[in-house]
Amino acid sequence: MIRSFIETLHKSIDFSGTVLFDEPLSRHTTFRVGGPAEVLVRPSAACFQEYAALLLSAARRHGIPIFILGGGANLVVADSGIKGIVLDTGSFSDTVLTQASDGSISVRAGTHVNTAVDLAAAQALSGFEFLAGLPGSIGGAVYMNAQCYGHSIADTLESVTILNETGALVSIPFKPEDYGYKRSPFQNSQVLIMSARCRLHPGVSSRIQEQIAEYRTDRLHKGQYRFPSAGSMFKNNPAFGKPTGMIIAALGLRGLQRGGAAVSPFHGNIIINTGQACAADIRAVVAEVAARVKAATGFDLELEVIFTPELPVQ
Ligand SMILES: Cc1cc2nc3c(=O)[nH]c(=O)nc-3n(C[C@H](O)[C@H](O)[C@H](O)COP(=O)(O)OP(=O)(O)OC[C@H]3O[C@@H](n4cnc5c(N)ncnc54)[C@H](O)[C@@H]3O)c2cc1C
Repeated sequence: MIRSFIETLHKSIDFSGTVLFDEPLSRHTTFRVGGPAEVLVRPSAACFQEYAALLLSAARRHGIPIFILGGGANLVVADSGIKGIVLDTGSFSDTVLTQASDGSISVRAGTHVNTAVDLAAAQALSGFEFLAGLPGSIGGAVYMNAQCYGHSIADTLESVTILNETGALVSIPFKPEDYGYKRSPFQNSQVLIMSARCRLHPGVSSRIQEQIAEYRTDRLHKGQYRFPSAGSMFKNNPAFGKPTGMIIAALGLRGLQRGGAAVSPFHGNIIINTGQACAADIRAVVAEVAARVKAATGFDLELEVIFTPELPVQ
């Protein structure tokens, strides 16, 4: 069914890119877990917009689920995989940032955040430094409203261009009330973020590079890349009075292990894949940590990382 849907779709457009059936998603997530995508499609930049518009509307008509994949840095994909089509945005990326006459720049959704940081720095544009070292894509960062070192990507936004539910290209102007801690207006909707228009400003190249290096070194020293993970597992909550990682650490839960997944020995809020973890192991650690925190403090931890649901056994 899905094979013929894809074949029919590809006859109606000059498709270029990659199509992979039963592709293990462990290859596409920073946690290195996840079962197969029924089909993973990574259209080239040349056909991305036209293809994505067609795909979104045709899939909707045929009741075929679409999952949009950025850098896979905030995901735990179920061991049973993802049914339907995984649309990989990775090839829809920039190699140069074009500045509009009003000074803003537009970055394509599939551009790796670190690439965008480096491109801005190469053009002596300041404003993206705080994102240095953040895994994932610009689309994913906007969707999650990624936040680091006291800034969020929303702080830089002027507008976001999306393909909406009907496949139309629409520019959504930035409104502060639409964004918050780990919140953007695109969550729980079926839209595809195509690009972000951001306000950067001229800076001193050496200062920008220094700041970027500082953030990258800080993440490295904190051990963030030592094991596969998705960064912080749970949200922080001002009502807790301290960061979630500190609460988990104070309960002695660092190192707690289920199968191949463990609370990292260096940060209470980072769960790691010690080598052979599966999504079920990560779920088991999450459940245990949440239960122990609830029992000890009464706090309900809220997930920051997105878990795709396990598929029913056929
Ligand atoms: C070592 C490490 C450190 C991290 N540090 C931080 C940190 O400091 N701050 C922070 O905020 N996060 C952090 N993270 C988490 C992660 O980097 C961010 O959440 C990132 O923004 C996710 O982007 P992504 O492209 O990988 O999204 P994905 O994981 O691919 O997707 C996340 C969600 O966004 C949706 N999505 C992705 N692209 C699009 C699009 N174009 N259109 C519509 N929906 C889309 C997906 O469907 C999914 O629901 C860290 C992760 C790791 C592994």
